[in-house]
Amino acid sequence: MNYFRPAIASMQGYTPGEQPKPGTPIIKLNTNENPYPPSPKAIEVLRNLNSEWLRRYPDPYSQDFCHAVSTALEVPEDWIIVTNGSDDLLNILIRACAEGKERKVVYPMPSYVLYRTLAAIQPADVVEVPYAEDYKLPIEELAAAAGALTLIATPNSPSGHLVPLADLRQLASRLTGILAIDEAYVDFADCSALSLVQEFANVIILRTLSKGYSLAGLRLGFGIANPQLLSGLFKVKDSYNVDAVAILVGAAAMEDQEYKNACVAKVKRSRSLLATNLKQIGFEVRDSQGNFLLVTPPDNQAEAIYQSLKQQDILVRYFNLPGLDNKLRITVGTEAQNQKLLQILKQLTLKIHH
Ligand SMILES: *Cc1c(COP(=O)(O)O)cnc(C)c1O
Repeated sequence: MNYFRPAIASMQGYTPGEQPKPGTPIIKLNTNENPYPPSPKAIEVLRNLNSEWLRRYPDPYSQDFCHAVSTALEVPEDWIIVTNGSDDLLNILIRACAEGKERKVVYPMPSYVLYRTLAAIQPADVVEVPYAEDYKLPIEELAAAAGALTLIATPNSPSGHLVPLADLRQLASRLTGILAIDEAYVDFADCSALSLVQEFANVIILRTLSKGYSLAGLRLGFGIANPQLLSGLFKVKDSYNVDAVAILVGAAAMEDQEYKNACVAKVKRSRSLLATNLKQIGFEVRDSQGNFLLVTPPDNQAEAIYQSLKQQDILVRYFNLPGLDNKLRITVGTEAQNQKLLQILKQLTLKIHH
């Protein structure tokens, strides 16, 4: 007996970055978590949680959290959908929009590998449009693919580049399907595409509390779009897709913009220092608007360096994908973590040269 649908039997599962237990002496620079703790106000809410919140089902629309988002970002509450991480929203979008050959999922490459996995589960055909070396958005090819759902991550991972607002606007105007703009890293970037949801009925912005707000373990994300676009997504989402703890803790974190901005400012300073220091030891470093750097180590040593770092309890991301085979994606850590990384990288590259 074949237990699984052909789409599942034939697909590759998504491989998440390694997640060692907290408390192990590992410097974790592989999955773009924020190195600083979440807002003390959010932790306070968690400590004082009334058990009634656990006994009951949570609010299916996470309204307390919507209210906090509405205040922080100045968008109406009924323009917000709240999800179990933004991965949940990506899943909802693909289930709501995509199917087979007629309703394709389209995205540029390289980008977030999960897009391909979710499309394979549906199943829906994908059109993967390669980015050129300069990472200019391939608007013509993306528009010509006429996806039911087009996904653009900006800042993109793993490249770290920001897609210009004008390019997104042009793409949105050329598409009849939905354009989902994945702003997981927007807190570390110079600007956002949020204004496009006012201009275009087919645009949705995806956000997460995993990166900027240091809450990857909480699993909380949200989308912003006009209520008519959201109405289809509400039909697809689980009734209780966000748990009661996430709603309350997330709302407190969202209200504490000042704390988030202070952490983000520290990460941005460290990002620029780390880039400078890596260049000094012979790495090529792309400019990044995320909390990570995509780097090319000297002498084609990406995989060897990844392995050696791992042996010394430092995790970075090695993708082993076409175009990324001699690259590493390094999350910006605390100053102490970055210094430790640089110290070991210096030794490794010296060894390679001699
Ligand atoms: C991290 C990330 C997400 C998912 O974040 P969640 O933890 O599921 O909220 C989505 N898109 C991109 C590009 C990411 O890097």
